[in-house]
Amino acid sequence: MTDCIFCKIVSGGIPASLVYQDDRVIAIDDIDPKAPVHILIIPREHIASANELDDNNKDIVSHIFMVAAKLAKTKGIAQRGYRVINNCGVEGGQSVAHIHFHLMGGRSMTWPPG
Ligand code: 5GP
Ligand code: ZN
Repeated sequence: MTDCIFCKIVSGGIPASLVYQDDRVIAIDDIDPKAPVHILIIPREHIASANELDDNNKDIVSHIFMVAAKLAKTKGIAQRGYRVINNCGVEGGQSVAHIHFHLMGGRSMTWPPG
């Protein structure tokens, strides 16, 4: 999608700190980190939000969770614990309309989130 910032990062049009990539996803450091580890896992395919998941694209979610768990181990936060977060829509706090999951860790999280 031409007007999507994450599509531009996926295609290399906007630079980002790449921490992982494969044929289906990229993972980058969040530009405004809210935890010592704050990585965004982004599918290469443009899917606007969780609301657009369907039988054709749903497998990306399990793949993203597997990548998150792998990166948590790589970053040394797997044993301490971490969060994998998807914000959906306005009230969910989604600010970029290309589905992505936040891997956050390296500090104690509070509950409930704000
Ligand atoms: P959301 O609020 O949609 O769940 O998360 C969007 C995230 O993308 C935010 O945490 C924000 O800091 C991050 N972000 C927005 N623009 C960029 C960018 O150009 N590069 C990177 N690395 N992160 C970005
Ligand atoms: Zn996109």
